[in-house]
Amino acid sequence: MESLINLDTLTEEERKIILSVLKKDDELKRTQDKKIGHLKLEIQAIRMKSVLRNGDDLSKICARCHAELGFLFNRGDLCPKCHFRVCRACQEQGLAGTWLCTLCNKQRQLKFFMEEWNKKGKTTKKTGTDLVKASMVKQRTCWRGFGC
Ligand SMILES: [Zn+2]
Ligand SMILES: [Zn+2]
Repeated sequence: MESLINLDTLTEEERKIILSVLKKDDELKRTQDKKIGHLKLEIQAIRMKSVLRNGDDLSKICARCHAELGFLFNRGDLCPKCHFRVCRACQEQGLAGTWLCTLCNKQRQLKFFMEEWNKKGKTTKKTGTDLVKASMVKQRTCWRGFGC
């Protein structure tokens, strides 16, 4: 811990600003966590739906929603990622005519989201608010007026 901020030297105004930044930071993190949690739940729900029961034949049903696939119409297509056959309703269109099944699509979203979040966390957050937080933890007693 080399360069912690000495919180005692801050003015009331500066403390307020720092606290509001910390609060915003926390709110942002909570929103991100919620989004990630939501995606994880959706992935879990799709997984549950995809579980095969006895007698299910994956060549005749959609791997995701288990809708029956026809011989001529709605035959389903193989997902380019997981290679399961899925019906039209379970195909999420992407860029340039590509698509993924609902499960692969959500997983890709989640991965993208976490990567973005990690990137952000490594650049801005570590330098500013984490330093303040570290300082607060170390000097917590000073903020309360004890022991210093
Ligand atoms: Zn389906
Ligand atoms: Zn897939």
